[in-house]
Amino acid sequence: MVEVVRSVPAPEGLGVALARVPPGTDIELDLRLESVVEGVLVTGTAAYEVAGECARCLDPVTFDEEAEFTELFAYPPTDARGREIEEGESDEEAPSRLEGDVIYLEPVVRDVGVLRLPIAPLCRDDCPGLCATCGERLDDPGHVHEEIDPRWEALARLAQESRESRSNGTPQDATQDDKQDATQDDKEEGS
Ligand SMILES: [Zn+2]
Ligand SMILES: [Zn+2]
Repeated sequence: MVEVVRSVPAPEGLGVALARVPPGTDIELDLRLESVVEGVLVTGTAAYEVAGECARCLDPVTFDEEAEFTELFAYPPTDARGREIEEGESDEEAPSRLEGDVIYLEPVVRDVGVLRLPIAPLCRDDCPGLCATCGERLDDPGHVHEEIDPRWEALARLAQESRESRSNGTPQDATQDDKQDATQDDKEEGS
């Protein structure tokens, strides 16, 4: 058995919509290579940094991730009948064969790495996200703006109509005036 610790640069395109391993950053590979009848069994971990955006507020997010994997690299069928199988079973040949394996590891690391990338990373678990109305962070203490509670919308509309008809000089009856006053009071408290 051969144990290998190696750092490789992250390949291009290792990522999903909101999270990725920045190309060129270090992927630390901690590998165990075992020679088995069918080929080389590689077990190990890949540790890397993930950069992304919070799915709720789009703030940058970075965190460390570690992926475990086990992969059998079988000898090519043609080699099984040729001389390369002798080299493969010799411990001295392990380093030279390893060079090829590390290159070949890329799809494996890519697969397990992408699988572990979060579809919806969060800057923190309770991130409240952005206001759907104004786009400000909901946890921003300065977040205030005119917003009519949908429950008050009908009353606000009524007040608006009533104001318009009044400016048109249409006479109002007492009931509607009372209602309008109440609406305006409520609206001021609510905003
Ligand atoms: Zn967030
Ligand atoms: Zn808002």
